[in-house]
Amino acid sequence: MAFRQRGYPANKAVLHKLLSARYELAKLLGFDHFADYITADKMMGSAASAASFINQMTELATARANQDYAVLLQRLQQIHPEATAVGDWQKIYLENLVRNEAYSLDQQEVRQYFSFAKVKNGVFQLVENLFGVQITPWQTNVWHPSVEAYELRENGQLLGRFYLDMHPRTGKYQHAAQFGIRDGVQNVQIPMAALVCNFPGGEGGSDLLEHAEVETFLHEFGHLIHTIFGGHVPWARFAGTNTQRDFVEAPSQMLEEWVWDAATLKSFARNERNETIPDELVEKMNQARNFGKGLQVRHQMFYAALSLNYYNRDPKELDLDQMMTDLQKRYSPFPYVEDTYMYASFGHLDNYSAIYYTYMWSQVIAADMFGEFKQNGLQNKAVATRYRNTVLAPGASRPAAQLVEDFLGRPFNFEAFGESLRDGQQQ
Ligand SMILES: [Zn+2]
Repeated sequence: MAFRQRGYPANKAVLHKLLSARYELAKLLGFDHFADYITADKMMGSAASAASFINQMTELATARANQDYAVLLQRLQQIHPEATAVGDWQKIYLENLVRNEAYSLDQQEVRQYFSFAKVKNGVFQLVENLFGVQITPWQTNVWHPSVEAYELRENGQLLGRFYLDMHPRTGKYQHAAQFGIRDGVQNVQIPMAALVCNFPGGEGGSDLLEHAEVETFLHEFGHLIHTIFGGHVPWARFAGTNTQRDFVEAPSQMLEEWVWDAATLKSFARNERNETIPDELVEKMNQARNFGKGLQVRHQMFYAALSLNYYNRDPKELDLDQMMTDLQKRYSPFPYVEDTYMYASFGHLDNYSAIYYTYMWSQVIAADMFGEFKQNGLQNKAVATRYRNTVLAPGASRPAAQLVEDFLGRPFNFEAFGESLRDGQQQ
């Protein structure tokens, strides 16, 4: 309760003021409300489409979510036999218990295969093999001794340059992100980017990454190759990752799939004794990954609905608390806890405004695009080349839906994502 009271009541007034100012701005520009304004240049196109997406996803995830929920409730009843519902505050604790017990997955056992140097080489190798490019050190000045610089070439031709600033130090940015340094423009300038992350392997201490960090590494590297491969268009405005915002995560979300693939992992994941990561361990990792997917989608759709419904009306007619409790009841499997005010500390209501749906939206597209690889092989160079040419290379010079259609040969749909919810469903 204390966690969900952060920022309350002070931020209630701030949020209302923000909603009102944005509403006024949207009206001045001729829109009905801010949600229509902010979605107009996205793939989604309108607030009404966002609303129907949220409902479709909720429906798609419901069977799986009910099953996940039943597992959590069963586990809770082993502790409190009289329990009839799982509280929002018990969810994460129970999920971890189930993951540990049902899949006996020990993250420390997993970690031994992921030294920073091996992971870096593995990511480089994967990108080199898939896309037929070469990554070589670039001799240049850097801003800290631990920073490395590289060039990415294809048959000798320079396509882009990048920096890796991968380990924590005092005063540094604390998350993991790709930063564009220079947009690429055909025959004018070569694209440049940097990954700024905080992985183990700096001065002193262990250099072993958790599997989630390996996934993050590849995710951010996905943005980097988008910047580089997409940095050869005629206009900087349309280079690389300047795509529609509700698409930009899809290429990186798709690339994450490779760190769950046994063949890819076995190409680089080795421990100190030079033993390759065992198949059984990768299998267990995948099973544990699947647990809780349905609940996760339902909960994300609650957040998406909140973000949309705060912005798709005149704030004068909006009761922040009433709307939150109504939507939680409708979208989340976990009941609202009295005297909590999550909107007062949900920062995405500011920076994402009405479009919190984007994360799930790009996941759906990522799953559909990944289907091509799933069907033809994750190491299939022909598919990878086609993907690079149709989706990454054009950058933002075409609407994102068109890029995806060029790759798939048809408009994208929800089927692959729906199937991934059925995959690994508990028997
Ligand atoms: Zn990202």
